[in-house]
Amino acid sequence: METKKLQKFSEYSMGTYLLCPKKYRYIYIEKLFKKQKRKVNEYFIFGNIIHLTCKEFYQKRAEDRSIENLYNIFRESWKRSGIRAFFKSREEEKELGEKGLYMLSNFYNSFGQKVPYLTEHYMENIFKDYIFFGRVDRIDLSADGTLQIVDYKTNKYYDVGEDNEERARKTMQLKFYAYLLNSLKSNVTSASYYYFAEDKFDTVEFNQESANYLREWFDEIINDIRYDKTFERKFGTHCNFCDFYKLCHETENNSDDNNNINIENEKLFK
Ligand code: SF4
Repeated sequence: METKKLQKFSEYSMGTYLLCPKKYRYIYIEKLFKKQKRKVNEYFIFGNIIHLTCKEFYQKRAEDRSIENLYNIFRESWKRSGIRAFFKSREEEKELGEKGLYMLSNFYNSFGQKVPYLTEHYMENIFKDYIFFGRVDRIDLSADGTLQIVDYKTNKYYDVGEDNEERARKTMQLKFYAYLLNSLKSNVTSASYYYFAEDKFDTVEFNQESANYLREWFDEIINDIRYDKTFERKFGTHCNFCDFYKLCHETENNSDDNNNINIENEKLFK
């Protein structure tokens, strides 16, 4: 089978579909990000700086992995990133910078002495007639040879409570990475989000039974995407952060939405 022709899915594309099929359609079928640039703000850049800092920290020799050097890497990445242009005042910049230092102190306490097995590790594999691919922030190796995945989160921790559907969507990224890594002959026993600000782990454990369940679940999502004819909107607080908010709401009451969407796009993205 020629891999080039196979449909590719990332945790982001599948997570987007679970969040809102319409948004999935805008990104992956209408390909609107090719016509309009993705919005970037200071928090997006901030997240990248924190990720980069954690990665560069482990590139230092063991004796140089001090908290002062972690802060220095952060300050250097901050200067290089161009984030300064997004602040209205020096105070605003200082506030976010200090938050970054606080988050990195938490990181240092939890991970400073623990060298990861792999960081920013790219993976891809063929399943049936599609490809899964992704880059995982961090993989730790236990003495018994099993692996633990960690995904760094710079956003705020939130508890989904009893909402099972939201819990499944929220942890999809971890399950996707574990499933993909296991398919490459590894043994992943857990995967966690690490929330810097709260110094909190949100963990999913895996066993043989969950591996079988994940295979079926991912197959189901792929089929839902492939056979979806309407790509319905799913409204929620996430709409406030959606790049397509304007387009989506302008076309909301249009029954001939799907036919007219290209005309709308032309108007908006000229
Ligand atoms: S605004 Fe909301 S409903 Fe519309 S595409 Fe974005 S996420 Fe979906």
